[in-house]
Amino acid sequence: MTINPKNMAPRSCLIGAEWVGADSGETIEVRDPATDELVASVPGCAAAETRRAIDAAAKALPKWRSRTAQERTRPLRRLYELMMRDRERLALLMTREQGKPLAEARGEIAYAASFIEWAAEEAKRIYGLTVPASSPDKRILVLRQPVGVCAAITPWNFPAAMITRKLGPALAAGCAMVVKPAEQTPLSALALGELALEAEFPPGVVNIVTGDAKAIAGAFFDDPRVRKLSFTGSTEVGRSLMKSASDHVMRLSLELGGHAPLIVFDDADLEAAAAGAVANKMRNMGQTCICANRILVQRGVYDEFVGLMQRRMERMKVGAGSEQGVEVGPLIDDDAVEKVKAHVADALDKGATVRTGGGLVKPHKGLANRFYAPTIIEGITSDMRIWREETFGPVAPVRAFDTEDEAIKLANDSIYGLAAYFYTRDASRLMRVAEALEYGVIGANDAAPSTAQAPFGGVKQSGVGREGGRWGVEEYTELKFVSWGGVSK
Ligand code: NAP
Repeated sequence: MTINPKNMAPRSCLIGAEWVGADSGETIEVRDPATDELVASVPGCAAAETRRAIDAAAKALPKWRSRTAQERTRPLRRLYELMMRDRERLALLMTREQGKPLAEARGEIAYAASFIEWAAEEAKRIYGLTVPASSPDKRILVLRQPVGVCAAITPWNFPAAMITRKLGPALAAGCAMVVKPAEQTPLSALALGELALEAEFPPGVVNIVTGDAKAIAGAFFDDPRVRKLSFTGSTEVGRSLMKSASDHVMRLSLELGGHAPLIVFDDADLEAAAAGAVANKMRNMGQTCICANRILVQRGVYDEFVGLMQRRMERMKVGAGSEQGVEVGPLIDDDAVEKVKAHVADALDKGATVRTGGGLVKPHKGLANRFYAPTIIEGITSDMRIWREETFGPVAPVRAFDTEDEAIKLANDSIYGLAAYFYTRDASRLMRVAEALEYGVIGANDAAPSTAQAPFGGVKQSGVGREGGRWGVEEYTELKFVSWGGVSK
């Protein structure tokens, strides 16, 4: 099958059942980060179009929320099937707009679809409760009802999954949604919108608006019909959204930045730990909120482990994500390249050394200057930017430690608390360390813990709320307590 990615997605916003442009006629260019080629232009919408999307969602809400769970399940299940039917097309589109290797894009589509599938099943299990009352004359009922119209703002690094993690549970719970995808990756979002119509969600249940982030978010906050905002993105933007939400006491879920530690104890299976560390670090070129940014290795196994990592990283093929066998694609844009360079330069200034990589590479002619070599940096200290801030690039900073207590202290030395990993064969250490790490997601001998049925989210400045499993669906429900009196004869 030959697919032309240029013709693979709508170029308009989805409001109700209509595909529309921006009122101003403005557009945003979407470019392939590997080549700078123009892939498509999408509408540069602002507040007025967002208000119309909220109108469409508010209009669709009463009928959608009053459907039975079984009736809500059907289009969800269908959307899952359509995503899997179109997996190759969606993956190609994602690679074109985001840059990740095609194999990873295929993986993300399946992962994104799994949230819709889970939501289709979970829609039937949104249970309330009866609670024993203190008076024989009363009964206490606890109902779970949909929050209402919800808004979602999503990032570019996982253009499909960061949407379906919100959309699936929201729709399962009986909410309607307006989604604002990232400027760099609107095409995956619009393609999902098109499939949602094909899956026969009623018009207005799913709306997608591309354009000016501040204007769109402002329209969400200014409209009392929007009852919840779910945001995935940087901690910096999350903080500002939290401030705006406080003016309206709007319900918020925040999936923010991370700075994951990965600890390798001297009793670990070093081959498994090196394979896990490299796969985890290099996924999406290191542009992943849960990728290992601080690799801590017990001194006795340090040389052997870093050697294993180095061999794996030096074998990785760098190139455009659409090329056969490529494992490391381009960074998303020039700012991302500058940030990685600045973090590495700062570390080297403060005494770190490069074990492998350490700069841009040019896989072949015709490609943009955004391919950063898989890199290991040693001699990391706590005053370096790379220790404190998300680098969002294919750079693995490695640091030696001596004791378990020291490793935990170093691992918890962060404002972030999203994901943490460790490798050990000692079962009692496994439980002790899992409990001591101040993170929302722990991978114990597992560098790929994310899955649709588990609660994903952070502590500290990594966010508020959880996505995935029944917890992800509960985020889109309100609890209502009904005290029912006059029961006795
Ligand atoms: P970002 O700059 O915060 O942008 C995320 C989204 O917010 C985009 O849609 C962006 O729109 C929008 N936005 C930007 N400024 C805004 C504002 N002032 N008001 C309202 N919306 C605004 O983050 P990013 O660079 O796209 O994504 C990378 C970050 O996301 C990293 O920090 C990463 O760790 C985090 N992340 C977290 C998770 C998690 O589950 N915890 C998952 C993935 C990523 P425009 O694109 O139009 O500017």
